[in-house]
Amino acid sequence: MMDYEPVIGLEVHVQLATKSKLFCGCSTEFGSEPNRNTCPVCFGWPGSLPVLNEQALRFAVKVGLALNCRVSDRIQFDRKNYFYPDLPKAYQISQFEMPINGKGWVFIDIPGANGSVEPQKVGITRAHLEEDAGKLLHEGIKDGSLVDYNRAGIPLLEIVSEPDLRSPEAAYEYLVTLKSILEYLEVSDCNMEEGSLRCDANVSVRPRGETKLGTKVEIKNLNSFKAVQKALQYEIERQSDMLENRERIVQETRLWSEGKGQTFSMRSKEEAHDYRYFPEPDLVPFTVSAPLIEEIRKTIPELPEARARRVMRDFGLSEYDAHVLVQDKKLADYFEACVREKVNPKLVSNWIQSELLALVHQARIGVEECPVQPAGLAGLIRLIENNTISGKIAKDVLPEMFATGKSAEAIVNEKRLVQMTDTKLIEEVARRVIEANAKVVQEFRSGKQQALGFLVGQVMKETKGKANPKLANEILVKLLKAS
Ligand SMILES: [Zn+2]
Repeated sequence: MMDYEPVIGLEVHVQLATKSKLFCGCSTEFGSEPNRNTCPVCFGWPGSLPVLNEQALRFAVKVGLALNCRVSDRIQFDRKNYFYPDLPKAYQISQFEMPINGKGWVFIDIPGANGSVEPQKVGITRAHLEEDAGKLLHEGIKDGSLVDYNRAGIPLLEIVSEPDLRSPEAAYEYLVTLKSILEYLEVSDCNMEEGSLRCDANVSVRPRGETKLGTKVEIKNLNSFKAVQKALQYEIERQSDMLENRERIVQETRLWSEGKGQTFSMRSKEEAHDYRYFPEPDLVPFTVSAPLIEEIRKTIPELPEARARRVMRDFGLSEYDAHVLVQDKKLADYFEACVREKVNPKLVSNWIQSELLALVHQARIGVEECPVQPAGLAGLIRLIENNTISGKIAKDVLPEMFATGKSAEAIVNEKRLVQMTDTKLIEEVARRVIEANAKVVQEFRSGKQQALGFLVGQVMKETKGKANPKLANEILVKLLKAS
């Protein structure tokens, strides 16, 4: 089989976190009673006029600046016309000719071997404002469908990438990076279950080395980043097989079925809509002033990429660790709050990424709701640093802190978990262990290094994990060499 290269571009719809809709005062609250958040503007009733939500405009510009886009100073909207029951006006107000944000770019990190990361620049084609459509409900309804217009008119930013992505993994990384930036900017809750972040993918394949683009297929119904990755994998394979068999790929829209793990044809290019865009006559074009753009620029916080560089520089973390920590703003905040308690940053990073995150994920909560707050985790790490308890004991203490909300110190005192650093006591146990394991001792003497590990393990077991492992090791070696 020939070597085929996929060419991928993504379209992401982000719901902007405004309190009211894009062109009227209706609430954007999720989960309201169907059709409660609607008004004549939502429905386009005669005599009603849309008014642009200033906050939505500010959010859009903020994202554009963060994605290094050329921000247009002229705002214009267009009507995208199509007839479908989810669209009460029979047109959607969008931006066609003059998107608020033009070309830009973002860096993504592609994980490489040995915990390294390869940065890759991904072009942004545009990021424009538009209103959402309503939602049709088909399930469990006989003879027809129901429609909920609460979503109609909710502000969306459609972020379109250049076809710069070359693998499903890169597409996944792009989405993770984009989500992370949007969260840092606090312009969207990025909740995929509630539809605040939706993605369509465009993908084509071509023989490696070919510069002309192949025929692209659009995939819809991608409900998670993992679904995007899986659907792309499936589609790349399908298209490569077709090229291999000299079949013609048709330009079409396909739907991803998570249950079947396949894409299915939805409509071909011939059936595609002609949206007959024209300038929205009810919203006159206007100019965004340079001072306003500068004012918005000042509200952009330190973004993940810059934060990762700072965390590496200030705390000596590896590229990989910094990358994992900064991706989630709240996790990075937790880490930095912990480090402010003057404990070893590398230890903090390890404890957060292994033990703490496991507990947080298990409890299905966010790290900001974690019962063990940064000062609490720092308290536990301090006990390891000053040899009060071993790392092994600490692994038992943390879940208890999580469950009870008690401090590490309180639990260690209550349960008498303080580490044994008394050489005499450890020596006593070590002697017993040596006596009871003559065969293993023999193995150690004949040069088998693993035997020592087993003996240390026995000392730890005898002392219920309380012996200082380093001391146990030293004492055992001393006794074995002496006898
Ligand atoms: Zn309304």
